[in-house]
Amino acid sequence: MRGYTKTPDQVHAIEDAFADGMSLRAVVKKFRVGTQTAQNIRDGVHPLQNDEPIYERCPGCGGKVIMPCILCRVRKVMDQERTVKLQLRDRRQEVDTCGWR
Ligand SMILES: [Zn+2]
Repeated sequence: MRGYTKTPDQVHAIEDAFADGMSLRAVVKKFRVGTQTAQNIRDGVHPLQNDEPIYERCPGCGGKVIMPCILCRVRKVMDQERTVKLQLRDRRQEVDTCGWR
């Protein structure tokens, strides 16, 4: 096994395998990596891991994302916009009603 031939995608796949409870030996066999490489990835010290943003399990949507979760942030903003629009419409209806009097 020569150098750092693993891509970030592979590293993440191996991380996921460890997260799923796969053993070091099984990971080495499945991904054809060196024991040291697999160990580094398991311990979170692989060079590609340190270059990459850290993926975490989002408590909001349950996805594996870079925190803060963009999906949840977008959802939140959309919810806020919807609320604002509803408020605007309510206000307009009030104005209309007032105009009729
Ligand atoms: Zn999320």
